Amino acid sequence: MKNKALKRLIYGLSFLLTTLPVFSFAISSPEKQDTIVNNGYKVKTIIVDAGHGGQHSGVGHFSPGASGSYSNERTVTLAIAFKLQKAIEKELEGVKVVMTRSTEDDVAWQKRADIANANKGDLFISLHCNSLPGRRIREVVGHKHHKPVYRTTEVADRSGKGVLLLVYGFHRSKEEEKAIKENLIEDDTEMNTNPDPNDPESIILMNEYKRKYRKQSIHLAELLNTEFTETDGRHSDGIREQGILVLCHSAMPAVLVETGYINNPDDEAYLNSENGQNEIVASIVRAIINYKAGVEQASQ
Ligand SMILES: [Zn+2]
Repeated sequence: MKNKALKRLIYGLSFLLTTLPVFSFAISSPEKQDTIVNNGYKVKTIIVDAGHGGQHSGVGHFSPGASGSYSNERTVTLAIAFKLQKAIEKELEGVKVVMTRSTEDDVAWQKRADIANANKGDLFISLHCNSLPGRRIREVVGHKHHKPVYRTTEVADRSGKGVLLLVYGFHRSKEEEKAIKENLIEDDTEMNTNPDPNDPESIILMNEYKRKYRKQSIHLAELLNTEFTETDGRHSDGIREQGILVLCHSAMPAVLVETGYINNPDDEAYLNSENGQNEIVASIVRAIINYKAGVEQASQ
């Protein structure tokens, strides 16, 4: 009887001893808690996206973008994109730049996102120029039978100036989920299993990614904003969340930079000048360097 009880106790204790570490491992295992932490993570590929584009080959898309009095968005963004590509490759050793558009022709937004995802970009930087829509005003131009005759005219609003940073808004998260899923399926270094949309663990993981990309996008936008305002002394409309298709389909931190208001004469001159373009590029590069140092240190 005594022997049996002792045996049971020893058996029970050894059972506890062997199972306890397993249980505690299962509960506090860092891999289980944060599968996203990727040790030794490095920013290796940056996608540079020149907004809009023409239809010079006579086929395909046409997305002219905003225009100023003598220049247009699609030409300015391409010029800045080429300068940015050169500067990143010069200043950030070992970082590859992939351009979503390197000719004057437009590229559909879905293709831009596909290029970004296929090249496994670590960052997506979309370059655009802003413009304010004209104001419609109604004025009395005469009288007919003692009643005023109105005419509606559009007056250009050139009051917008400076930069604006856009990150994706949450209301487009379905598309983003799909992009993250597709990117994860090909990438088994970050995750052991393919995400199953019905599996609660996959859903948690997906949400973690969404949260992480959003956080990193906002962080990069803040760094960019600081450079534009504090280093270059430019006005900023700040950081906004907006549903932008190309950003939502890119499974990586992504920021859309409105580099200036092309329909404001001062901004248009700045956006078209060598000095202005170089200043914008230098600010973006400094922000990327800060961003890169931060995420790479965090993952060590
Ligand atoms: Zn644009």
